[in-house]
Amino acid sequence: GSADLHCDLLVLGAGPGGYSAAFRAADLGLNVVLVERYATLGGVCLNVGCIPSKALLHVAAVMDEVPHLAALGVEFGAPTIHVDKLRGHKEKVIGKLTGGLAAMAKMRKVTTVRGYGHFLDANHVEVEETTGQAQDKTGAKKTIHFKQAIIAAGSQAVRLPFLPDDERIVDSTGALALKGTPKKMLIIGGGIIGLEMGTVYSTLGARLDVVEMLDGLMQGADRDLVKVWQKMNAKRFDNIMLKTKTVGATATAEGIQVQFEGLDGAKSEGTYDLVLQAVGRTPNGKKIAADKAGVAVTDRGFINVDVQMRTNVPHIFAIGDVVGQPMLAHKAVHEAHVAAEVAAGVILGDAQLAKSQFDARVIPSVAYTDPEVAWVGLTEDQAKAQGIKVKKGLFPWTASGRAIANGRDEGFTKLLFDDSEEAHGHGKILGGGIVGTHAGDMIGEIALAIEMGADAVDIGKTIHPHPTLGESIGMAAEVAHGSCTDLP
Ligand code: FAD
Repeated sequence: GSADLHCDLLVLGAGPGGYSAAFRAADLGLNVVLVERYATLGGVCLNVGCIPSKALLHVAAVMDEVPHLAALGVEFGAPTIHVDKLRGHKEKVIGKLTGGLAAMAKMRKVTTVRGYGHFLDANHVEVEETTGQAQDKTGAKKTIHFKQAIIAAGSQAVRLPFLPDDERIVDSTGALALKGTPKKMLIIGGGIIGLEMGTVYSTLGARLDVVEMLDGLMQGADRDLVKVWQKMNAKRFDNIMLKTKTVGATATAEGIQVQFEGLDGAKSEGTYDLVLQAVGRTPNGKKIAADKAGVAVTDRGFINVDVQMRTNVPHIFAIGDVVGQPMLAHKAVHEAHVAAEVAAGVILGDAQLAKSQFDARVIPSVAYTDPEVAWVGLTEDQAKAQGIKVKKGLFPWTASGRAIANGRDEGFTKLLFDDSEEAHGHGKILGGGIVGTHAGDMIGEIALAIEMGADAVDIGKTIHPHPTLGESIGMAAEVAHGSCTDLP
């Protein structure tokens, strides 16, 4: 036809979802075009999300370890912070990873097209070429014909409409740009992203206020896990405002003056050098003219899919943040593999591949704060709210040799097993949570145990290396099983 490019599979968006889908599909023999408006591949996660935040959090964690060492007999002087160098380190990390993706795309012969893509119909996407970091449109256009497509357009930060346009008011992308080290910072929204960025800035010297509409920080995690984090981090905060709304703000020479209103009607105010909006993310489903292809988009901008990641238009798939919660990179990657395999299976006529579907039982969540908070599957608070009978095994890190040796024994590991009558005392693991250093690196084992349908004996009898923090998972299972009842 009249298209400039033809492909088997067009992937719209090159975040963790999009690049994973493109690579898997290319490996399976499809001719793939990957459309991305940014200058680099990797999407939010690599450019302005998971990776840059962790590059900065690593530095913060090392800095935060220093005061702990004083109690162990080693003291350091006050740190000297070179913000430009720190920013440079973060940029280097991003460059290494996005450069690696570009090389992998080339190796797999995935054609990347830079620009804004939008659907013309159910078999064509038009791409308006972009250039530079600001994604300016050059005016050049390309039409791409596809047999199948995967929408992986991701999400972007929600902006509170009443906040003034001022460079001291930022979203997570602005915070990661690390323009300087503010003295007084407000975080609007006490979720993972806000608290991670707050950790970085407070370690670099900022005093923090946080305002949250709900009645606790880090929603979704069990309150007993969060309590440990909160106790360890109390010193970072001047003011934790719960059940409170941000209702207005004025930019002044002294700072951003922000007005708050409690759900009880109480009014208050604060002045800040930096305000971070971290009130959630909104999907990009409405910005790609999906309707032209007949793809249904919800009022909120999400695209509904089936277990094979197909939209209501069977040859068009959607994956990642744009299909719904949880908006996490590891979820996007797994959905991507399903969509790519189904897309390739249809063409290859391979019965095995055509059966590919997303059937993850659980998706882990991690707050990479200090200490880290990680959880997967059923939480204790959910079990209580839903009346699900569980047997709990909790192992306090005050009994972990490694945690004590590390001088960081504030954490604990908790496992929850099915304690319903049908389980007959051999209930499978339903969920787990860990608070403590490296909790995020350990939560995968609990996810595996849930996927495998392990019970407390399976986990407790698995020999974990000593002395490790990971041992606490085996110990928590033993506690639940009742063979370790002498613990505190
Ligand atoms: P995205 O990564 O959003 O990628 C979508 C891509 O599509 C973007 O590159 C965008 O430019 C492109 N695009 C959109 N529309 C068009 C169009 N019309 N034309 C061309 N291109 C288009 N998740 C974790 O699992 N762990 C973490 O530690 C973590 N930390 C985070 C920290 C921060 C500060 C933020 C903001 C997010 C974090 N996340 C984390 C979430 C994670 O980044 C997302 O879940 C993940 O990036 C989603 O992947 P995706 O492929 O669906 O979309």
